[in-house]
Amino acid sequence: MKYVSTRGGSARVSSAAAIKKGIADNGGLYVPERIPLLTNEIFDDLYEKDYAGRAAGILSLFLDDYDPDALYEDCRRAYSDASFHGGAAPTVKLGEGRYMLELFHGPTCAFKDMALQIMPRLLSRALTMTGEDRTAYILVATSGDTGKAALEGYRDVDRVRIKVFYPVDGVSDIQKLQMATQEGKNVSVQAINGNFDDAQNGVKKIFSDQALNASLNEKGFILTSANSINWGRLAPQIVYYISSYMDLCKAGEIRRGDRVSFCVPTGNFGNIFAGYIAYRMGLPVDRLICASNENNILTDFLNTGVYDRNRKFYQTSSPSMDILISSNLERLLYFTIGADKTASYMRDLQKYGRYEIKKTELAAISAIFDGGFTDEKETFDEIKTTYEQTGRVIDTHTAVANRQARIYAGRTGKPVVTVSTASPYKFAADVITALGSKVKGDRGVLSPLYELSELTGTEIPAPLAALSGKAVRFEGAIDPSDMAGSLV
Ligand SMILES: *Cc1c(COP(=O)(O)O)cnc(C)c1O
Repeated sequence: MKYVSTRGGSARVSSAAAIKKGIADNGGLYVPERIPLLTNEIFDDLYEKDYAGRAAGILSLFLDDYDPDALYEDCRRAYSDASFHGGAAPTVKLGEGRYMLELFHGPTCAFKDMALQIMPRLLSRALTMTGEDRTAYILVATSGDTGKAALEGYRDVDRVRIKVFYPVDGVSDIQKLQMATQEGKNVSVQAINGNFDDAQNGVKKIFSDQALNASLNEKGFILTSANSINWGRLAPQIVYYISSYMDLCKAGEIRRGDRVSFCVPTGNFGNIFAGYIAYRMGLPVDRLICASNENNILTDFLNTGVYDRNRKFYQTSSPSMDILISSNLERLLYFTIGADKTASYMRDLQKYGRYEIKKTELAAISAIFDGGFTDEKETFDEIKTTYEQTGRVIDTHTAVANRQARIYAGRTGKPVVTVSTASPYKFAADVITALGSKVKGDRGVLSPLYELSELTGTEIPAPLAALSGKAVRFEGAIDPSDMAGSLV
């Protein structure tokens, strides 16, 4: 199967080339030129498999230039019990017709692991498959979670090296500790005297520095990014929607063919878009509910057809959803209205920070998508309510979605799966506050974790608990102007 750009043009590339390049030459995102069907035969075959087996089967439909045995081996390693404690993506029952798909059992306790544990392996193979003999040098500027998830995913993967830059005072103490103690032969972490924009601009400068790129080339490196718009990060996310549906069938909660809705805490529109692809493959999905926090640009878009990023930006307790440009929405536009119109709307977005789709176009999107947003107070209330009603401790991002799922279930009485994207321990202080308690913070950086555990009788996830005994490997901060010099 070939991949094309959301903004048109005649270039068609293999999946390996799409994964290696990341973004198309005309600025568009890569999409498969057709969506494979989840036939009864394929469904039956995958139904009996474990998560890694299902992942390999689904990925091979999209990445048909990869050797299926190689994909299977990569999935085995990526989704092993050693990486994902308690299963890769279990679906748990909250109540009648209410479920939660838990995507936070990976090494960094957040949903980015679902893609970043496998994507580096896909990239490593893509280099070989495209005849590339250089080593991929991944540069990341992070304000928190992506950096750690990328480090964990790329560590000790052949033919890649990774360097993560972060603002020295722009990440939480736990995030800092997570990165400073990162293990692996091919990883490096560097704090920057500056804010996130300084780190991001520094990385952009490095990418556009011709002389530096030439000198890196001579040393055998090709610069790439671990960007969330790479198809290699999107494809693995399709798997858990299908797998969750199968698990619900297996548990006798639904019958095969019954429709189920998924409610997804959304930022960059990557997670929920993967759900849309699963639906287009033929998975019986009723509604895809796009849940936003106070940065509700997507709610407005889904309700009015106007995407307008000229608006106030809010810092919320669900920071991974504090986004005003949802890049993957471009892929939905492509599949709904085609490349030419998508390209034209993207030009509007570039020029005016705004575009407006036609009513008929909106109707096509509304045929499957709902949008709603949860404000800060409702988010905290939801954490408390969920704990009181079900005994489950959820994080702020999950709470944003669970509130919308609650509203949907109340209105329709239909089954709905809340997609849970982070362990509550990643946002322990907010969760403690939401549960009506006060954070004492008297036991160092990890104090909120111990306190949340004592308050709720739940266990601290192993990767976070292990932080206390880990040696710091990366120390000190440099000025943004020295970022390029720190590469080799
Ligand atoms: C990245 C992230 C999201 C948003 O996912 P998108 O694919 O960007 O929509 C939600 N919750 C958490 C915890 C995340 O890390």
